[in-house]
Amino acid sequence: MSRVAVIGCGVVGAAIAYELSQVPELQVTVFDRQPPAQASTGAALGVLMGIISHKVKGNAWDLRRRSMRRYETLIPELEGKTGNTIPFNRQGIVLLCFEGDDLQSWQHLAQTRHDQGYSLGLWDLAELQVRCPHIQNSRLIGAIHSPGDRQLDPTALTLAFVEAARQNGVTFEFNNPVEKIESLPDEPIHRLSTSAGVVEADWVVLSAGLGTTPLTQVASTPVEIRPVLGQAIRIKVSEMLGDRHFQPVITGEDVHLVPLGNREYWVGATVEFPTDAEVRADQAQLEAVWQKAIALCPALATAERLQAWSGLRPRPHNQPAPIIAPLVGYNRVLLATGHYRNGVLLAPATAQTVCKMIMDAMVMNEESKT
Ligand SMILES: Cc1cc2nc3c(=O)[nH]c(=O)nc-3n(C[C@H](O)[C@H](O)[C@H](O)COP(=O)(O)OP(=O)(O)OC[C@H]3O[C@@H](n4cnc5c(N)ncnc54)[C@H](O)[C@@H]3O)c2cc1C
Repeated sequence: MSRVAVIGCGVVGAAIAYELSQVPELQVTVFDRQPPAQASTGAALGVLMGIISHKVKGNAWDLRRRSMRRYETLIPELEGKTGNTIPFNRQGIVLLCFEGDDLQSWQHLAQTRHDQGYSLGLWDLAELQVRCPHIQNSRLIGAIHSPGDRQLDPTALTLAFVEAARQNGVTFEFNNPVEKIESLPDEPIHRLSTSAGVVEADWVVLSAGLGTTPLTQVASTPVEIRPVLGQAIRIKVSEMLGDRHFQPVITGEDVHLVPLGNREYWVGATVEFPTDAEVRADQAQLEAVWQKAIALCPALATAERLQAWSGLRPRPHNQPAPIIAPLVGYNRVLLATGHYRNGVLLAPATAQTVCKMIMDAMVMNEESKT
């Protein structure tokens, strides 16, 4: 048996734990300094912009393609195993287009996606107004509908991953921070200092989001993950917006309107880069997002604001998001971190990639013995 320590139980760590729990040769323990889905994951809107993204090739597209495909089987699988409901909106994403937008680039993307086996609908203004009558703005010229994109509840998903992984034998140690990872160059075993004592592991997976930076300070190449703050709100309207049978996520000018049922919606999110060491939510930025949302959907003006919150997205400094790779200079320490704005979208493919890295190394190790 190989012992795997997963550090961090946001959506990424939980997805990894579930994926690894299906490998009989692995004994998996997940550590988190708090309960699951409390950090970035707990603030996320769960919009999965895979097919509608402009990534068309390479690793960025491959991660999106694999995640979107896996989600279709994952949600019923997790619901079946756990009995939990995971709110999963299958009505797609409608991306609004405005005067001055480059429609040719959307036509080009629609053709590429068609060739890849997906569809994107290019709607003119008349079609948008029939399908989404609640969306009204004089600068609109149409929309792109991506029926294959999805939205889900990130907390419900993470808790289902935890429950399903637990059923498969994974141990979860919540409220148990990892303070230090000690790995000696010539020794295959890692020692993790936790608040409950020292734990040994053959593999360490660092899915600690912003907590990755302090844990890699001793490494020859430390990994710097910086926070980008996001604020969002939950609102309730007196009547469901638009067509009650067609409730996709609507996104325009970087504002998402996410239907939750029961006349409730999430609206967000701000993208706030910290200006100094302290990261503070700026009320004016949330207000700007809210005003943009009202400008797209005037009926929101009379909505009741139920709740507002903020979270910190983990963004890699000086390298692209996400980082899914071995930690330089360390044997069997894998980074699965820095997913920035797309951690929920990319969690399933990240988990598959980490699992494959461990399995491939185990096979190579076995082969080297024979
Ligand atoms: C407002 C907002 C909206 C968003 N909307 C979307 C969206 O629509 N779609 C999308 O795909 N993404 C979205 N995101 C981004 C998404 O939330 C993140 O990319 C994702 O949650 C990252 O997941 P994670 O598991 O890597 O990190 P986290 O959820 O931050 O989890 C990291 C975990 O590691 C733990 N940890 C850290 N250090 C230690 C330590 N030393 N010991 C033990 N545990 C430790 C933390 O407690 C935490 O639980 C949004 C983010 C925000 C803030």
